[in-house]
Amino acid sequence: MLEKTYRGIPREEIPWYPIIDYGKCVACGKCVEFCHNHAFDFEEREGKKRTVVKNPYHCVVLCRGCEGICPVGAISHPSAEKTRRIIRKLKRAKK
Ligand code: SF4
Ligand code: SF4
Repeated sequence: MLEKTYRGIPREEIPWYPIIDYGKCVACGKCVEFCHNHAFDFEEREGKKRTVVKNPYHCVVLCRGCEGICPVGAISHPSAEKTRRIIRKLKRAKK
């Protein structure tokens, strides 16, 4: 299910999303299939199909599920520790 907010914070204020390393990605599409929130999609560029992070904020905060299914280890996320710190700061600012 898509989260519009996370612990009361608008989802788009939280910098958590998958990052594709195009030096490794082989455009197999496993991540597109795997993520039920449709964070990934295909894009056609110069006649070539490639996988993109089309909806970064559809990614569930602190989920890393797709990292393990990528056959070439091309997916990463920002630091969870740093993101938790940002969330705490945003929560404090809202009080
Ligand atoms: S699973 Fe990995 S290699 Fe396959 S399209 Fe996604 S990022 Fe690229
Ligand atoms: S970490 Fe989870 S929610 Fe985020 S893009 Fe990957 S599978 Fe989707």
